[in-house]
Amino acid sequence: MQAASSAIVVHGGAGAGEELSDGCRCAAEAAAQALARGEQGLAAVIAAVVVLEDDERFNAGTGAALGLDGKTIEMDASVMDSRGTLSAVAALRSVKNPVLVARDVARSPHVLLAGEGAQRYARLMGHAPYDVVPETARRRHWELLEKMGTCEQPMAGVDNIEFARFWNYGGQPGFDAPQGCDTVGAVVRDADGHFAVAGSTGGSAPSLLGRVGDTPLIGCGFYAGPAGAVAATGIGEYIIRNMLAITVYHWIAAGVDLHLALQRGLALVPPDASTGLIAVSKTQAGWLANSSTPFAHIQD
Ligand code: ASP
Repeated sequence: MQAASSAIVVHGGAGAGEELSDGCRCAAEAAAQALARGEQGLAAVIAAVVVLEDDERFNAGTGAALGLDGKTIEMDASVMDSRGTLSAVAALRSVKNPVLVARDVARSPHVLLAGEGAQRYARLMGHAPYDVVPETARRRHWELLEKMGTCEQPMAGVDNIEFARFWNYGGQPGFDAPQGCDTVGAVVRDADGHFAVAGSTGGSAPSLLGRVGDTPLIGCGFYAGPAGAVAATGIGEYIIRNMLAITVYHWIAAGVDLHLALQRGLALVPPDASTGLIAVSKTQAGWLANSSTPFAHIQD
């Protein structure tokens, strides 16, 4: 295949705040270094996501959001490329880098492993138990509970009462709860003209136990094919309903300008639901969000 110019776009979570862009730049540089070593786009997106998973300011890996019980952490992650790789994990507990477990699922006969089975598989693949909860994650959790205590709507379209009514953690709810996104994701076009995407999240907060968002669901939070790669961030429930990543991908594949495709995609979700999109195509790269979201972009 003829050499193409490479492009990398990274996001740090819808609504996470542009002040976190330095973390996204470090992640994009890690992806660029992987490409410079001659690695494929898949290795590059994974390198970017690992950097963000290890940065506790982001809701992924070490910084993953605590469940509403203040203890449980369940994480989702996925990888896909235009060479045929597709694998993901959902509701995975106690690992440092869910995206590396997602990558390892590609070695199994399956595409998606969830819950206890995913955790056992992670151990089999050599991923050690990891249960670090940084002070930032605890603080975000208490800030969330405080907001919920003021009856602020925790998610666009959902009242606090729903989380108490359907409480499925142990014990009793300790709130009367806010919304947090900050998932991380990366898309790459490599020098061979192939595309790759990876994402990782602690899940949008608040959420019930066992909740799985868009991040590990193909076509919803991520998609990569011969025409490009797309990743979404925001409230998974809206992203899933609109199969946002593949919807935007199909527009790009049909020849719609990439930036217009991102605009159309964003218009599918309610404006009060914090949402972001990143994409690369054969000739373009872009990002768009309806709230303050950290991004980084490196173009060859
Ligand atoms: N989309 C993720 C989820 O719903 C959260 C995020 O993007 O911040 O789990």
